[in-house]
Amino acid sequence: MAERYAETGFTNGYEFTQGSGYVLPEYPFVEPPEIKSGAPGHHPIVIVGGGLAGLTLACAMARYQVPAVLLDEDNTVGVKGASSRGICYTQKSLEIFHRLGVYEPIAAKGIQWSVGRTFAGNDEVYSFDLRQQSAYNLSSQPPFINIQQFYIEAFLVDRIGQLGGVELRWNNRVTAFQQDDDGALLDITTPAGDYRIRADYVVDATGSRSPFRQWVGASVTAKKGDDRWCIADVRFTKHPPVERHTWVEAPFNENRAVWQHLMGDNVWRIDYQMAPNADPDQVSREDVVRERLSRQFGSDCEVEIVWVGPYAYRSECVDRMRHGRLFFMGDAAKVVSPFGARGGNTGIADADNLAWKLAAVMKGRAAPALLDSYHEERHEAAQQNVLVTNRTARFLRPADGVEKVFRTAALSRARQYVFARQLVNTGRMAIANPYTRSSACDRTGGQ
Ligand SMILES: Cc1cc2nc3c(=O)[nH]c(=O)nc-3n(C[C@H](O)[C@H](O)[C@H](O)COP(=O)(O)OP(=O)(O)OC[C@H]3O[C@@H](n4cnc5c(N)ncnc54)[C@H](O)[C@@H]3O)c2cc1C
Repeated sequence: MAERYAETGFTNGYEFTQGSGYVLPEYPFVEPPEIKSGAPGHHPIVIVGGGLAGLTLACAMARYQVPAVLLDEDNTVGVKGASSRGICYTQKSLEIFHRLGVYEPIAAKGIQWSVGRTFAGNDEVYSFDLRQQSAYNLSSQPPFINIQQFYIEAFLVDRIGQLGGVELRWNNRVTAFQQDDDGALLDITTPAGDYRIRADYVVDATGSRSPFRQWVGASVTAKKGDDRWCIADVRFTKHPPVERHTWVEAPFNENRAVWQHLMGDNVWRIDYQMAPNADPDQVSREDVVRERLSRQFGSDCEVEIVWVGPYAYRSECVDRMRHGRLFFMGDAAKVVSPFGARGGNTGIADADNLAWKLAAVMKGRAAPALLDSYHEERHEAAQQNVLVTNRTARFLRPADGVEKVFRTAALSRARQYVFARQLVNTGRMAIANPYTRSSACDRTGGQ
């Protein structure tokens, strides 16, 4: 897989273009029984993709004691050669992880934070403390935990192993999919040869470069901008406070935006907005990164660079999250910019939503029609998340003219007036999306 990414310059749709990456765990390839038998196997539920969404679903199926098979083309968690991508996990996701039995290791490894500060130039425009909000004590999980995404994925893999009943097949790449009234058929390629699986239901959790979109002819509403960022994951000798800091206009980054967050292992994620025409190789060169860091933290600050990588984002949403026996989930269903931590967190919510419905249907406790409510509920959430993140993206990279004038006015008023602070949009943090049009919640049964 690493070679494939090197060829295309892509990693799951985010344009990471360099980096040596963290050391990730590797899981063994086990020859699937179908290769020896030569006959296609039958599995009621097949999950394709062992990222955050696929593994959350697999873990939930194991917890419901509903058998499933998960296929992943890689032999590890995270993305080889890329940074951790996701870092910030919401209370809702933490509650789901608590139910699945992986909250404890996440809390032990991760960092809790509640104070956020937003700056423009040298001024603090506003700050918040989530502990002062009324909903703070409603959950036994904190508002957020920051942790590298691959740790969560690895905890899920371990938990699935403990629970049993769900088979994880590493180095199994799905190369074709078809479906009819009798079921779905998947072609899979492995280091030991190719084989086929028949399935009743298939979940596409292959991320933003999903091949299933093409296989089922899914229509996608998409938008690509020219906003460019460069991540520097670093360790410091002198620590900034454990708070989320965002600069809309950072004097040390040519008045472009900057994010600063702490993750596990004492690693800070510093994310710098680049000029739209920035050369990814130049902005991520070590001397250039170090110069940027010393402009921000002072030349006396000793910095260990853990990972550096430039990226661009896009915004996409499939128009239907269910196509017959196939369900789109996580980034396969929608891709959003990272602002507000809505990508992974909503993929986790997709998984949580589909899991209990699949379990109820497989156990004969609900009619298969219940599964339609997955599209109704999670597509509404996906559209909402695309809308919210697109608005943030436009605030952070406004077009010349009205958008720029609006931003300048919002920033100058926000220094003085409370009402204007709400207009400063550095990312609306992910929430549990409400559903307004679900047949599962319609007491009249859709009449
Ligand atoms: C810079 C950055 C910061 C981010 N920060 C956050 C954050 O703070 N919080 C947050 O919630 N989200 C964040 N995100 C978004 C988050 O990383 C993604 O939304 C999340 O990884 C999507 O998970 P997924 O399981 O849908 O897909 P992925 O994680 O992309 O997993 C897809 C899996 O499918 C497998 N696969 C692909 N094709 C096949 C195939 N044909 N056969 C078998 N397997 C296949 C791959 O090997 C991979 O394991 C961030 C993203 C970026 C780029």
